[in-house]
Amino acid sequence: MAETKYIFVTGGVASSLGKGIISSSIGKLLQARGYSVTIQKFDPYINIDPGTLNPYEHGECYVTVDGHEADLDLGHYERFLGIQTTKANNITTGRIYKSVIDKERRGDYLGKTIQIIPHITDEIKRNVKLLGNKYKFDFVITEIGGTVGDIESLPYLESIRQLKRELGKNALCVHLTYVPYLAAAGELKTKPTQHSVKELQSVGIQPDILVLRTEHELSTNLRKKVALFCNVDESAVIQSMDMPTIYEVPLRMQEQKLDATILEKMGLPVGETPTLGPWRDFLNRRHNATEIVKIGLVGKYDLQDAYKSILEALSQAATYNDRKADIHFINSENLTEENVEEKLKDMDGVIICPGFGQRGIEGKFIAIKYCRTHNVPTFGICLGMQCMAIEFARDVLGYADANSREMDEKTPHNVIDIMEEQKSITNMGGTMRLGAYECVIDPTSKTYQAYQSEHIQERHRHRYEFNNNFKEEFEKAGMKCVGINPESDLVEIIEIPTLKWFIGTQFHPEYSSTVLKPHPLFLSFIKAAINK
Ligand code: GLN
Repeated sequence: MAETKYIFVTGGVASSLGKGIISSSIGKLLQARGYSVTIQKFDPYINIDPGTLNPYEHGECYVTVDGHEADLDLGHYERFLGIQTTKANNITTGRIYKSVIDKERRGDYLGKTIQIIPHITDEIKRNVKLLGNKYKFDFVITEIGGTVGDIESLPYLESIRQLKRELGKNALCVHLTYVPYLAAAGELKTKPTQHSVKELQSVGIQPDILVLRTEHELSTNLRKKVALFCNVDESAVIQSMDMPTIYEVPLRMQEQKLDATILEKMGLPVGETPTLGPWRDFLNRRHNATEIVKIGLVGKYDLQDAYKSILEALSQAATYNDRKADIHFINSENLTEENVEEKLKDMDGVIICPGFGQRGIEGKFIAIKYCRTHNVPTFGICLGMQCMAIEFARDVLGYADANSREMDEKTPHNVIDIMEEQKSITNMGGTMRLGAYECVIDPTSKTYQAYQSEHIQERHRHRYEFNNNFKEEFEKAGMKCVGINPESDLVEIIEIPTLKWFIGTQFHPEYSSTVLKPHPLFLSFIKAAINK
């Protein structure tokens, strides 16, 4: 395609309506028609990136291959489209301002007064077009975080207004709203949608397509009414009902011709509707899987979004094993020697979650000991892997004071230590070991059986590492270091080969599991859990 097309996805009425899922679904449908697509997210907060945000505030921090700490919506984009995103796919207001202020300090603006319009909006527009210009995508979908009407969103909306003027048919706005159901009146209400569209119109944007989140089917009359009041075509009013799985959303959007409407409006040929075969196969398998596999998630954040990618990776792997993942969150802060059996005995497999800091750490050791001594399939991720090593050092090697430098600065048995290059770092944001690194796997290991490959690349987000001074001792006692970074010699994977499935990874495999390409370690972990 000669020119890149830009689709903006905004949201109104309420947050959490699933703009990320709608953006991903649009991307999926266009990709299925042979177009190259990427999706980016603009977050209106002042943080430079979500890396320093508490997961309670903003859910999981996703990590791209190029080492950017990103919004969790990028995880949806990658899982739906099977693409890899980069730093350019997630921009925050903080980054926009920082870049403008840096330019101002350098003198790039030649004495001009720096203002939101045009300097901030130009910087936003530059970042929208960057992906299209640099990588020549056919479509760049830009999701605007927050809700129309927020003060923070205004510079983004102004940029969309300008881009729509500049790009004509090559730009389009999809607005996602909510249609509440009033049980007492037995009616769906469109007024909030009308108001939200008015809000957009008041800043000069006429949305081209409306997607209405609803818990009940929208009647033709209601669609007509929305079209009339909001000044859009009737065919451009799309409903998005609650689905048992988010992966159904592309199909429901396709049934209502969302992709065809987009193509038509952008002056592109519509052609045949793609069948989405493998995607449908995945969904069929998911529907047909009735037997469950019970997985315990031992962590400290009792919030679904904090472990988003792990949950998705588990449920994808369960589908490909023809099982339904029944995931139980087990708060490690409440785990004790006394209750661990009761909490874990019904689990077919246990995940020891990533994390930072002391809170809930002792409960993780208790869970690991139970799993190790009862041969429960166990998967430790990042801090989870580090905890596996610490527990082993305490209970098997006999070092009662074994710990990570992160939790205990003085212990002589620092089996997890601070990385050399991390010692002098004082800035917390964006300074961990981040992004994809190579790892070589021992071909005799269980991990190798899962990957079927000696050379892998996985994404990282940590400051601490396995302390190689203890490696020999660990291996002699039965915990093997089976994945090593060939350049730095850092231990990436540990396992106890005599157990059914007891593997810890310093990296985060969950970030690279997608719908059509589930992650081999999660597949193998679920298989082991089923066979338990
Ligand atoms: N806190 C640990 C570290 O920084 C683990 C990080 C994580 O689990 N992502 O090394």
